[in-house]
Amino acid sequence: MSQLTLVLYLATMLAALVGFFVAAPDGLVAVLWQIAVGYSATTAILVGARRNTGDRAAWYCFAVGIFANSTGLLVEAVDATLVHPTGLPSVPSLADAFYLTLYPAFALGLALLIRKREARRDWGALVDATMVVAGLSLPAWIFVIAPSAGDPTLSIPGHLVSIAYPVGDLMLAAMLIRLHLGARRPRPRALWLMSGSLAAFLCADIAWAVLHVLGQSPDDTTRRLIQVTSMLAYTLIGAAALHPSARQIGEHDRPPAAHLKIATICLFTGAALIAPALLIFQVAQGRVTNGLAIAVGCIAMVLLVATRMSQLIRRLEQQATTIREMSHTDELTGLPNRRAWTIELPRAIERARRDSVPLSVAMLDMDHFKLFNDTHGHPAGDRLLTASSAAWQRRLREVDYLARYGGEEFLVLLPDADGARAGQVVDRLRDTTPLGQTFSAGIATWNGRETSDELVARADSALYAAKQAGRNQTVLALSPRTDPTGQYPATASNPSR
Ligand code: GH3
Ligand code: MG
Ligand code: MG
Repeated sequence: MSQLTLVLYLATMLAALVGFFVAAPDGLVAVLWQIAVGYSATTAILVGARRNTGDRAAWYCFAVGIFANSTGLLVEAVDATLVHPTGLPSVPSLADAFYLTLYPAFALGLALLIRKREARRDWGALVDATMVVAGLSLPAWIFVIAPSAGDPTLSIPGHLVSIAYPVGDLMLAAMLIRLHLGARRPRPRALWLMSGSLAAFLCADIAWAVLHVLGQSPDDTTRRLIQVTSMLAYTLIGAAALHPSARQIGEHDRPPAAHLKIATICLFTGAALIAPALLIFQVAQGRVTNGLAIAVGCIAMVLLVATRMSQLIRRLEQQATTIREMSHTDELTGLPNRRAWTIELPRAIERARRDSVPLSVAMLDMDHFKLFNDTHGHPAGDRLLTASSAAWQRRLREVDYLARYGGEEFLVLLPDADGARAGQVVDRLRDTTPLGQTFSAGIATWNGRETSDELVARADSALYAAKQAGRNQTVLALSPRTDPTGQYPATASNPSR
């Protein structure tokens, strides 16, 4: 149904546009024809807004903009026939107020869409949009704004109004780029229709501005072409409102990207080259009349590029930190994982060597954990692993280092603890394990020479011995050069599990 409405709307409006160009109406008929197109587009936007409840306020703003802009045509016609029948209407005229209403109305609508889409402000997209607009501002200043400002025939309000058009166009261009940069991918069709509408408005405005600067009044065909472009702008924003994807414009589905696409970099490069290109153009003409504006444009661009680069570097660093943390953390328990352990153990050995203090490693393995899973289910097993590691963590000192080695096996690094002391710590951990779950443990104390792998291998062998001896107990590994002593039973020298 909505698709049919859209097709009928587009067919009627495009027929009206082609008809306008071919039939070439003039006078009041031409004005009414354009207004009819503008009011139809306004109606289409209102119909679309009723369906699109989430973004209704934004679409109402667009409707106000189009309604005011097309009403401006009527006001201008009345002004020309009734108020100033003999001469040129004054600048600014009442019609300007109606035409210009489009800018704040559209800016508000676009701002509402951008705001809804982004819970957090996307500073990167803001700088990107500013960069492109800063680049475009320079030719706008040189070719449109500065000549209008210097036009001696205009009054001060006249100056302001003639400057308001290009400034308004730049503002809308900036907001449109901003809307595009943070848009979900693939971009909704409605966003493209809206972009087409704003592009058509810009083309029509630029055409009027160029004609004004050149001091030429357009021939009939050119005038009609510009009028059809404005009507196309009305038509496309109406189509955007009716399009089923209109609601997606305000939807957000991805975090801001930390990288820049090639197309975006090309866009920035193009924007950054505008100022030097204008300089070359003016030098080639044998005169540099806008040196200051061009220099300011260049400086602004360099600063914006530097800002953007530093934003990207900062975001990349944040992402690298997150990735590093994730790659060193066990997802289930939040403990350091095996990768983190293999980095930490050699460091701890180095510290023990430097400070001449003992260092022990305990390897823990849950007893009959497969049975626990089979009895209570795997999720319950997961919860027990998490609860156990949390309980153990609370019983350990700050300097101790608990890691998940894999599956239901854990490792504890106990600096400044000999075998006997490590045995006491492990016994404490056993007491705090939830649900009466037991574990077996193997302890190895660094012998002053061995590598981290050798140290862990000895703890592993001791663990194996603990399992062999009936589970729920701790075995202290023999140092390769020491005889078995103390209360902990010795392991076999090189068992395999
Ligand atoms: P043993 O006393 O000999 O250590 O017996 P066991 O059942 O604990 O040993 P085994 O190595 O045969 O099985 C280990 C079990 O641990 C099997 C596996 O399903 C379970 N397991 C390993 N990782 C996880 C995990 O992340 N979550 C859960 N729920 N179970 C796990
Ligand atoms: Mg086990
Ligand atoms: Mg195991």
